[in-house]
Amino acid sequence: TAALYIVATPIGNLGDMVPRAVEVLQSVDLIAAEDTRHSVRLMQHFGIETPLRAYHDHSGSDTVDYLIGKIQAGQSIALISDAGTPLISDPGYRIVDAAISAGVKVVPVPGASAAIAALSAAGLPSDRFIFEGFLPAKQQGRIKHLQALQEEPRTLIFYEAPHRLLASLQDMQAVMGDEREVVMARELTKTYETIKRAPLAEMVAWVAADSNQQRGECVLLLRGAVVASTELDAEASRIMDVLLEELS
Ligand code: SAM
Repeated sequence: TAALYIVATPIGNLGDMVPRAVEVLQSVDLIAAEDTRHSVRLMQHFGIETPLRAYHDHSGSDTVDYLIGKIQAGQSIALISDAGTPLISDPGYRIVDAAISAGVKVVPVPGASAAIAALSAAGLPSDRFIFEGFLPAKQQGRIKHLQALQEEPRTLIFYEAPHRLLASLQDMQAVMGDEREVVMARELTKTYETIKRAPLAEMVAWVAADSNQQRGECVLLLRGAVVASTELDAEASRIMDVLLEELS
């Protein structure tokens, strides 16, 4: 049956393309791509000849209607982004939302995503985490955003652009303190893959001193805030004891 396939593509290393992704991209009628020129190379590499069409979340609703209409008429469409999993800090939300509302089947074809790859090798607690995507580009907004996350106990995952990496790390240090651990996962799956864990003060000094560390794509992860056992906890457990006493 016709469907909208959400297809993950590699985040650097073409060897990470999953076989089902190739099969699906070969067999659908149309591929909606974030940047068709960028995706042409992937298509050539895997011998995929399916026509490409540009899709962004800011494409007009006529584009969304056109694509959904095609699926309703029996054609299958695959959505890809420039790298990794669509919708993860990438276009796709609007068309998936519209597809679901229109009763069109949506099928994920999972593969690489930088956030999950980084988390899996970061050495930070991974049982609970939050994905924050990109921090605001301007410092004032970034600091405010980080302040709101100061007490978050879960591991935090951020995407960052190379030219803002150092500024973001410095703001993280200012808000979270020198000792909070950060992991920089840079150029994952590529030749210069670097994964480093260090306290923020140390990481800022290291990245500032080595401009090579400010190149390429990067995921930043912060250890969550340690929820210290406070007087409040002591009071809470005293109340709990009283309540349990009542129950027995
Ligand atoms: N949809 C993609 C995914 O599933 O990972 C993310 C797209 S987002 C526009 C691009 C950001 O992802 C980059 O700025 C960087 O933070 C991160 N990223 C993508 N590829 C990466 C890689 N090979 N190594 C480290 N970070 C990467």
